[in-house]
Amino acid sequence: MRKISVLGSTGSIGVNALDVVRRLNRAGESFRVTALSAHSNVALLKKQIRVFHPALAIVGDGESAAHLTRWARGLGIKLQVAFGVDGLVRGASLSGVDLVLSAVVGAVGLTPLLAALREGKNVALANKEALIVAGEIVMATAHRYGGRIIPVDSEHSALFQCLAGGSSVGIRRLILTASGGAFYRRKGSLSTVGVEEALNHPTWKMGRKITIDCATLTNKGLEAIEAHHLFGVPLEKIHILIHPQSIIHSLVEFVDGTMLAQLSHPDMRLPIQYALTFPERQPGPVRPLELEEIQKLEFYAPDFKRFPSLSLALDAGRRGAAWPAVFNGANEVAVQAFLERRIPFTGIPKLCRQVMDRFKGSHGKVGLSAILAADGWARREAAALSVLSFPLTGMKLNSLDKSGKHQHKERSKKWAF
Ligand code: NDP
Ligand code: MG
Repeated sequence: MRKISVLGSTGSIGVNALDVVRRLNRAGESFRVTALSAHSNVALLKKQIRVFHPALAIVGDGESAAHLTRWARGLGIKLQVAFGVDGLVRGASLSGVDLVLSAVVGAVGLTPLLAALREGKNVALANKEALIVAGEIVMATAHRYGGRIIPVDSEHSALFQCLAGGSSVGIRRLILTASGGAFYRRKGSLSTVGVEEALNHPTWKMGRKITIDCATLTNKGLEAIEAHHLFGVPLEKIHILIHPQSIIHSLVEFVDGTMLAQLSHPDMRLPIQYALTFPERQPGPVRPLELEEIQKLEFYAPDFKRFPSLSLALDAGRRGAAWPAVFNGANEVAVQAFLERRIPFTGIPKLCRQVMDRFKGSHGKVGLSAILAADGWARREAAALSVLSFPLTGMKLNSLDKSGKHQHKERSKKWAF
């Protein structure tokens, strides 16, 4: 019996992971889901609780926790309920849990990730932002307490498999492939593209934040930093390649010129399953690849000019210290502002650049408290700048979205950037 905590179970990765667990158990494996977490989607969490019977469920706030407790009691379900980051920390460090799948979105995943690693647990890591903001601290904590980080991100799972989970000796380059996101083939200005278009990813079905990060190419910059920390390879040796078919998930080039790649149809259940069953392999949920059906695989150099977020993310990674936390914090705020239609698509890199330009951080080694302070500063700065640069007077209130928040629609007037 392998006990697993799934943090972010109501998200795209979380739902896919529970599907993988169900399939593996049907095929004779014995995974027991011990903790599940939602932030706002309590309705889906309830369904998951009925199927997986976790000991602990975590929600976003105290009110939802009280509601869930009453609901479970009413149905005679034995369940502990916790909330917020403290709740996630509890889910990450439960005794007896063998593996923590960290699939929350954003830097909020850092504290629970460190808690799991301090308990020496193995972590299947989807939550890349935690590694972006504090990669050195995360890797040092894993090393110190003996836990292993198994990447879930498809590119990093590919690299991990090409390196056979082992050392990074003899590497010339890591080559991260990128679909190019929603706008890679689009001609003309991106300043007026809409939210729905940006969420229309050509090959992957994912959560909203990462889908926007793919459209700006921010995601690939974040993934370069992620690979740097996971595999101990300097950023200069990490190369980015646009590959629109998303069949080759990444490659390792060795000093003798050999390249190893991992290929499959784009379906996150495959890297999730590999992280759960590592070092073993089980029959997968994804249709095998028939290369003669694919016929053509294309590769292009990324367009850094058209997608400035990619350069900004890489620049933050090269500077190190708290710069990646600053970039990431600003980006999280900017993406949310775009999703709420408060800034245009091209406002995302502009806001990130403004925040980076204002940061007065040092370049040396930094501790966790300095990183968390920089993260908080970047978020406040980005929020203030987004209002300054795009005042509500430049927009009209349009409608209420699903979460009840106001959406804003651009007037004919141009954005301030
Ligand atoms: P989703 O937005 O679909 O899901 C995010 C999950 O985190 C949900 O369970 C959500 O809860 C929860 N959550 C959101 N905000 C908070 C918060 N403040 N505190 C605690 N929990 C929160 O994201 P994805 O599943 O797409 O992505 C998850 C992570 O995996 C991200 O870091 C992403 O970069 C990474 N990743 C995702 C891939 C994918 O295919 N989706 C591929 C590679 C990496 P609720 O829905 O209940 O509000
Ligand atoms: Mg990826």
